[in-house]
Amino acid sequence: MKRVALLGATGSIGRQAIEIIEAHSGLELCAAASGSTPLDSVSAPLKQVGGDLTELLDRAEPDVVLNAVVGFAGIHATLWALERGVDLALANKESLVAAGDLALAAHERGGGRILPVDSEHSAIFQCLEGRSDEQIDTLVLTGSGGPFRGRTRAELEDVTPEQALAHPTWRMGPKITIDSATLANKGLELIEAHFLFGVPYGQIDVAIQPTSVVHSLVRFRDGAALAHLGYPDMRVPISYALTYPERAATPLAPLDLTSLTLEFSAPDVDTFPMLALAREAGEKGGAAPCVFNAANEVAVAAFLAGRLPFLAIAEVVGGALAAVGDESVRDLDDLIEVDRAARATAEGTLAAA
Ligand code: NAD
Ligand code: MG
Repeated sequence: MKRVALLGATGSIGRQAIEIIEAHSGLELCAAASGSTPLDSVSAPLKQVGGDLTELLDRAEPDVVLNAVVGFAGIHATLWALERGVDLALANKESLVAAGDLALAAHERGGGRILPVDSEHSAIFQCLEGRSDEQIDTLVLTGSGGPFRGRTRAELEDVTPEQALAHPTWRMGPKITIDSATLANKGLELIEAHFLFGVPYGQIDVAIQPTSVVHSLVRFRDGAALAHLGYPDMRVPISYALTYPERAATPLAPLDLTSLTLEFSAPDVDTFPMLALAREAGEKGGAAPCVFNAANEVAVAAFLAGRLPFLAIAEVVGGALAAVGDESVRDLDDLIEVDRAARATAEGTLAAA
């Protein structure tokens, strides 16, 4: 029996995870947490709304932590699992992006596994399995391009939160849906891939594949490219992460090849500058990925609240990144201070806008 602690249990990933756990006799939900939503409909021996997630994890003693919290708030749980060598099923990409080297050091000390839940990284993890670094040519992260794919900047000036929330292929929480519309999500995933797989940024590409059937691919040095295909349904990577190395049955229908259209194009980084900003932040390293993430969280919340135009999200994030110096990030306290300062810088830009 594998005991799962589910953080972010009321969210989009959280609810799908509960469905997977309930359907699998080898999985048991030992603890569930949410930020502020009641957990009345969730049955678990330990439940917590708000508060310190690491206290809950200490009591729950899980075999695997599924971190499906949204945003930097997931940092404590990620580091808790990595430090202790408890398997981490990671949906909360923001924590790995922000903590970067700190997370990798904790992972090294703890010796547990990071099992990616993000569909692209789950795909790459599966394509890579058993392959050494020197055999890899490039990782290719795929993305749908979001609801505004093909638009010009002029056509993005007046878009509303409601339009940005209408994602063409995935049903997800509001923050990641806006990130998908700006391509910040693909930017976070680029940095996430760098830290998860230890591959330099120059060897990680992004391709647009509008139907989200190709979940990512790896090109190898012998000319072979391995891709992972499937319908866009997060239950598949959630199930894979929770039942790894087994591949458990899910309710999904087999892929119908005759119904597929598989077209690829390059991302439009001029219209969607968040992807280029993320690459810049990743390559800069140090505090920059944490700043990118923090400023993006502030800007997305402001956009959703109707306080910031869509195109200004990238301006807020670009401004915060331009203010990054050589802040050292030696421990979690340093990181929390970098996050706090970047939020303050971003809030300052909002106030001036
Ligand atoms: P969501 O907004 O639907 O749910 C977020 C969950 O986190 C909720 O249960 C909320 O109560 C909880 N939460 C928020 N703040 C918290 C806090 N301070 N402490 C404890 N819990 C808190 O978000 P989502 O779409 O499920 O995404 C969750 C994470 O998974 C994000 O990092 C996202 O990028 C990632 N992800 C989501 C999808 C998807 O399909 N939804 C796909 C890939 C990756
Ligand atoms: Mg993804």
